Amino acid sequence: MSEWDYRSLWERALSEIKKSNTDEIWISYIHYENSQEGLINLAVPSAFYKNQIEKKYKSILESKIHEISGENLKINININENLDYSDENTEVKPEENPVKFADARKNITETYNTNLNKNYTFERFVQSEANSFAYNASYAISKNPGKEYNPLLIYGGVGLGKTHLMEAIGNEISRERNDLKILYITAEQFTNEFLYSLSDHKTREFKNKYRNVDVLLIDDIHFFSGKKQVQEELFYTFEALYSTNHQIVFTCDRTLDQVKDLNDRLRSRFGRGLQVDLQPPVFETRCSILMKKAEEKKVSFSQEVIEFVARNIATNVRDLEAALTKIIAYKELVNKEITVEIAQNLLKDSIGNRKTNDLSVELIIKTVADYFNISHVDIKGKKRNTNISFARQISMYLIREMTNYSTTEIGIEFGGKDHSTVMYSCRQIEEKLKCDPTMDSTIQTLKTRIKNQSSAR
Ligand code: ADP
Ligand code: MG
Repeated sequence: MSEWDYRSLWERALSEIKKSNTDEIWISYIHYENSQEGLINLAVPSAFYKNQIEKKYKSILESKIHEISGENLKINININENLDYSDENTEVKPEENPVKFADARKNITETYNTNLNKNYTFERFVQSEANSFAYNASYAISKNPGKEYNPLLIYGGVGLGKTHLMEAIGNEISRERNDLKILYITAEQFTNEFLYSLSDHKTREFKNKYRNVDVLLIDDIHFFSGKKQVQEELFYTFEALYSTNHQIVFTCDRTLDQVKDLNDRLRSRFGRGLQVDLQPPVFETRCSILMKKAEEKKVSFSQEVIEFVARNIATNVRDLEAALTKIIAYKELVNKEITVEIAQNLLKDSIGNRKTNDLSVELIIKTVADYFNISHVDIKGKKRNTNISFARQISMYLIREMTNYSTTEIGIEFGGKDHSTVMYSCRQIEEKLKCDPTMDSTIQTLKTRIKNQSSAR
């Protein structure tokens, strides 16, 4: 087949597909490039389009071509960033997702609204070492928007407070400066509004809206990855605001280097000001956050319960909040004081299957009891004879080493001992291990026996 045949075959296939997919925006982004024996090369503007189009249309197109020509031709989709999509030739169809675009339509034309969540304030943000740099930079910006640290990029994993801190900046500014126009938007909403503006000839409204704010807060910019057109628009928005000293704040769930398919100019603009990160909270901060959140909700829990939750939910603040919400709901609905046992039970799904290799606490205690030739009941009991106390300490140490039990949970296994007692016992053994070689061999022997018995089960 000649190049011309391939091309006209492609165009026929495309127009037939368009007939049955009237509301699809993706097809209009496909450009014909050239053909070789049995292969049609197409181009799209970015990896994002490539993924979408491959997923949705590649096989439909191939079978359509087969239907028309009887030939088994393959389609190859390349990325060509230089493809030109001006506003006129872009067929964005908001009908593709009426709900999404209904919001975009409303947002773009409605009167000014900051979109800020009033609960996200600096007062409600618990400070710690892991976030003090980000907190102080954010606070400084809220006192002096557009003057220092512009743009600010807050990055870090999910649920660590990026949105909270960003909105705190907005809320603080709006409290003190009612002359300033502040706008919070997620990268996804920004993208939707932009696509809508293209399809509905509202690009001027879009540009007016975003280029005339004093403080622009864009959340989750990793979402722009691969979206070439909206990146372009954002670049101009950025330039307009930056050159007139208006504050811009971004958040991202990874470092800028890790955001793929981001236009170089935009990447350099994002990174131009100050970049601050948020780290997961350490145990003490997790306790403080839980106490603060409980206080805000006007409930209180024992220190033991707070510590139990903080010890076991170490991922991020969002998970801590979810755990707390569950416990509070239980407390209110069942009207019962929350104990560590209740909390443990309520959170067992979030804490997950934490017992490594099915090693049971009972097995460890029994192995230690046999080794020292004492009763298993005594180890778990309250007797204070030297050898029983010693075996008890070793058991606690081994449970902490060999399972995922927290010291609070270990305390529960030993008749409700406080976690500090467990910590003390473990420390005693650690000290002995440092200076007493027989201690080391005892521990090694016990570990081997426990593992052997566990696998023999
Ligand atoms: P991200 O945007 O990083 O995913 P969010 O800002 O949405 O995280 O935070 C998740 C939840 O945790 C929010 O309810 C927020 O108020 C809370 N949160 C996060 N960090 C803190 C903190 N240091 N102090 C108080 N609450 C926090
Ligand atoms: Mg967020």
